[in-house]
Amino acid sequence: MQRVVVLGGGESGTGSAVLAKVKGLDVFLSDSGKLKEDAKELLRKWDIDFEEGGHTIEKILNADEVIKSPGIPETAPLIVAIREKGIKIISEIEFAGRYCNAKKICITGSNGKTTTTSLIYFMLKNAGLNVGLGGNIGQSYAYQVATERYDYYVLELSSFQLDGMYEFKADIAILMNITPDHLDRYDFKMQNYINSKFRITQNMKEEDCFIFCKDDPVTIGELEKIVTRAKMLPFTQKEEVGEGAWIDDGKMFVNVNGDVDFIYLKELALQGKHNVYNSMAAAIAAKAIKIDKKVIRESLMTFSGVEHRMEKVMKIKNVLYINDSKATNVDSAWYALDSMTTPVVWIAGGKDKGNDYAPLYDLVKDKVRVLICMGLHNEKLHENFADKVDMIFDVQSAKDAVAKAYEVAQPGETVLLSPCCASFDLFKSYEDRGRQFKDAIREL
Ligand code: ADP
Repeated sequence: MQRVVVLGGGESGTGSAVLAKVKGLDVFLSDSGKLKEDAKELLRKWDIDFEEGGHTIEKILNADEVIKSPGIPETAPLIVAIREKGIKIISEIEFAGRYCNAKKICITGSNGKTTTTSLIYFMLKNAGLNVGLGGNIGQSYAYQVATERYDYYVLELSSFQLDGMYEFKADIAILMNITPDHLDRYDFKMQNYINSKFRITQNMKEEDCFIFCKDDPVTIGELEKIVTRAKMLPFTQKEEVGEGAWIDDGKMFVNVNGDVDFIYLKELALQGKHNVYNSMAAAIAAKAIKIDKKVIRESLMTFSGVEHRMEKVMKIKNVLYINDSKATNVDSAWYALDSMTTPVVWIAGGKDKGNDYAPLYDLVKDKVRVLICMGLHNEKLHENFADKVDMIFDVQSAKDAVAKAYEVAQPGETVLLSPCCASFDLFKSYEDRGRQFKDAIREL
């Protein structure tokens, strides 16, 4: 019997273990940390052998194949040992894809993945299709493949998941953009990160579609180097294209197979330049699978957005508070600042992933009056921005950040949490950071 070892007992790991069990494989799950109670309950329910708080090497190095959680880096000694033994390491998505004949719409990119994935899922649901949502979002894809029978999946894929994918094929692949992120996991080489993102196009055939941003120089540069057999459907805010999506005269146009629809930009539920890209990508995908134009239009007009992404929290004394805690890199914070139409009290900082802040200089000079640095190490923010804002403060909790913002913000201004950084220095996750921020506002 084939022996599969699953490393990491989070959402994707437990889901993979259940799928392996359902498919009759010999499965063992190992996690170096503590497992959550509900994860253990699930594993016991499915009668899956597991360990936590450390790895038993002998029980791992006898695997035929290892399914690795995307959170475990290649440099972890256990991974090095597995590679040395020549055991294949794959991701949850690769594993689950083997057992899934549904049509797969896969979304990757440095920014906009969750928003676009959620919007496409919303469209397919509204069209009455039998569809699952997975990848980096919600319940794991593997668990759904084990327990559901969907006709379609909308999957958000991180570069770490793509790294462990070989045979998997997307029917529709969407690459939102590529800007520097997670470079600490790619030997600080941008090309490694680009290669990882482009794995989303691997194995695609003529009948498949590749949707990409024509305004993204990194994507376009790479496309000149590689061969993709899939149908190319670009989206752009700069010029009209044949098939794909573009804007003109305040309208967003979508053309797939010569059938052209449009919607006024002001009708889009998601506002801001970055969200126009997200709406374009989603609309092309929906049209490519022949969803009714009325459903696409209504979905674009009524989608309520996703928590922690430019989420308007509330207005207090004519100051608007926005939670953009998911902005964990420079590019996403750029779009957030770019969309500001009032002076800004900007809350930024956290765990810096090797950021280059230069692209933000002009925007900060233009729009930010006060910078509140919320992190354990704020020196880099001071070095980059102290001379570009009127006031700069240091805080080490969401509560203090909100109290300071409340004290300094003037009527008509916006308080924007768009940290540019990961959250792990002061918070459990970006969700935790966003929720603490919102709680502190509600308590003002
Ligand atoms: P991801 O899942 O790729 O991290 P999200 O949809 O969660 O992307 O959005 C993350 C952050 O990036 C949000 O704070 C948002 O303001 C910003 N953002 C969303 N879409 C885009 C885009 N297409 N380009 C650049 N920034 C974006």
